[in-house]
Amino acid sequence: MEAWQQCTESAITLAAPIQPQEETRPTALAITKALRARVRQVWRLPWENNWKEVRWRLLQHSVVGAGGHGWPMKRGTACPCGWQHSAASPRATQALQLREHVFWTCTGASAIRRAIHHNLPVSVQLLPRHVWLLEQPCQTVRKEVWYVVCLAALTAMLRARGLMFSTLARTGVDPAVVETRAIDLLLAALKDFAACQGSVSSFSDLGQSHPFVYARPNGSLAVHCSSLPSVSTALI
Ligand SMILES: [Zn+2]
Repeated sequence: MEAWQQCTESAITLAAPIQPQEETRPTALAITKALRARVRQVWRLPWENNWKEVRWRLLQHSVVGAGGHGWPMKRGTACPCGWQHSAASPRATQALQLREHVFWTCTGASAIRRAIHHNLPVSVQLLPRHVWLLEQPCQTVRKEVWYVVCLAALTAMLRARGLMFSTLARTGVDPAVVETRAIDLLLAALKDFAACQGSVSSFSDLGQSHPFVYARPNGSLAVHCSSLPSVSTALI
């Protein structure tokens, strides 16, 4: 539970630039207690467990390459997007900064959360706790669908950063290409979920106007997560 508490505190403090700070520790304690039930519900989702793994590891602070196990980036190195953790911070703090970067501020992660935000009511503010801790940002999205969106998003964020290091790093990193690929990964994950459900599922009653995923007349699911025309210029 200590790692979960740390993850919750990170999610709250990461929102500081966009939301007035609550007193972190008591708020995080209450949220962390509520996580147990949500984690059980997520494991029961009818979807392959490999889509749930990144989120589980995020909670445990064990995502390799994202500060997991307390490992920051090597001294003097930078993310392909140019970001570096604070050189003066202890390694454990640098590792937390790296996790926050990979799953919130890195190029691909930013594009993914803008795309998600684009599919929510305009009045909704998307916060780290919504994505990391799977808290519904609004009642417009059914709880289980929101879980799927977050699992897809976190997996896509990590994969998008991996792409920056592999294919894209060889030819230089073009932020617009990274953003497009990141959203492709998000959509591919949502489509995989939809394809896994068949024509009779607990999601077959989702209305056509439901964000992200809806049910066709025959009960099978389809995805309508619209991405932004130009993610690189979109503001959140
Ligand atoms: Zn980065």
